[in-house]
Amino acid sequence: MTTNPFPARMHEVTDENRDIVDRVLDYSRQRLLMADAPLDKPQTPAELTRLAGTTITENGIGGAKALSIFEHILAPACITTDDPRYLSFIPSAPSKAAAAFDVVVSASALYGGSWLEGAGAVHAENEVLRWLAAEFGLPAGAGGVFVQGGTLGNLSALVAARETARATRTAAGRPAPDRWRVVCSAEAHSSIASAARVMDIEIVAVPVDSDGVLRGPAVEEALDVHGDSVFAVVATAGTTNFGIVDDLAGIADAASRHDVWFHVDGAYGLSAMLSPLARPRFAGVERADSLVVDPHKWLFAPFDACALLYRDPELGRRAHTQHADYLDTLTETGDWSPSDFAAHLTRRPRGLPLWFSLASYGAQVYRDAITNALDLAQQIARIIDGRREFTLVREPQLSVVVFERVGWEKADYNAWSTRLLDDQVAFVTPSAHHGRTNARFAILNPRTTLDDLTMILDTMTA
Ligand SMILES: *Cc1c(COP(=O)(O)O)cnc(C)c1O
Repeated sequence: MTTNPFPARMHEVTDENRDIVDRVLDYSRQRLLMADAPLDKPQTPAELTRLAGTTITENGIGGAKALSIFEHILAPACITTDDPRYLSFIPSAPSKAAAAFDVVVSASALYGGSWLEGAGAVHAENEVLRWLAAEFGLPAGAGGVFVQGGTLGNLSALVAARETARATRTAAGRPAPDRWRVVCSAEAHSSIASAARVMDIEIVAVPVDSDGVLRGPAVEEALDVHGDSVFAVVATAGTTNFGIVDDLAGIADAASRHDVWFHVDGAYGLSAMLSPLARPRFAGVERADSLVVDPHKWLFAPFDACALLYRDPELGRRAHTQHADYLDTLTETGDWSPSDFAAHLTRRPRGLPLWFSLASYGAQVYRDAITNALDLAQQIARIIDGRREFTLVREPQLSVVVFERVGWEKADYNAWSTRLLDDQVAFVTPSAHHGRTNARFAILNPRTTLDDLTMILDTMTA
């Protein structure tokens, strides 16, 4: 046996590494089982530099010191996104099983890009994707991949849509348009505009009805105006700001009449389809050519995971498979390799925490947890509606509740929001609609209670 001439300080099972692994796992265990982690809040760079000092040195400060700096200085400068009173943006609320299993994914050096390397992990991820596809009513052949987030999922789906449109036109001997266009609602998520910039395409932003919903006739009109240059229509299944679900069936009709790809952005809201309470709102999603839903939002998985599904995964594969001499051994087989279905190559099997959690608890508790958030949103909306200090901006469809404090200006909302966080009461950032500042509760954490919400309302009238 020869020994490595270099000291393998980082990689061998030494006393130092045993100690580091023990400390890190002890910390993780304690954090995962902590009943009430503090909300915490950001610090300035100067303050963090002052507190943490220089941590990168030539010989290392040691695992004990580094972990202590994380625990006592860095972690408290990160807001706890799964706090029940974190109601800003879209919160996260990973289940205990999902969060714990994320540790296993890292500990096991799993590679989730190819079947050759990660068959077992990919098999489990695919079972989750098939389960989701069936929930959404997609056909048995549907499939896809877990990507980093809805932004990358939307981009990858739109790239597949454009490649498909290009191939269809070429096959029919028709020229490509001067400019490719995608039709979506004026309230579509900013990631659609981001995808358009990356792809150098144009967005046709169709106005929504007064209730915030994009409907078939408006889409039809846009398709008539822009004709052959449109390669995809994007419907939003739960807008981020209001949780409004577009008229998916009407939009699917319009898209199919014009023979364009129908993509559903359900990053936040499509999870609600798991609850019988909201399921009917999503009629038409089963006709999607592609869709995204973020398990790191309302499917109780840790960051970061977006499920991207294609009706016909082959179209995703054709658009995205990377070819290179060193990869031929992977791409020349018929194996199912997740790398082939999005704009990425190396990937962790980020769908595994959701798989483990679903396998552990079963689907029913997911349905119950989602139903609970939908109920809570209705209850607090009724309370807001009944108090003269508040106006409900729109009737909530899912679990986002937007309201105004009568008489408040932007500065009032900002001061109130800052005070809530400073006092470690809650994290609720202001939002805006039609130029008017408002307050917004995004509810999805099963630990959030009606008391939490009414207590926060009371801070606006005290
Ligand atoms: C959050 C969200 C996105 C973006 O997803 P990320 O995971 O943050 O990249 C896209 N669309 C909608 C509707 C969203 O709510």
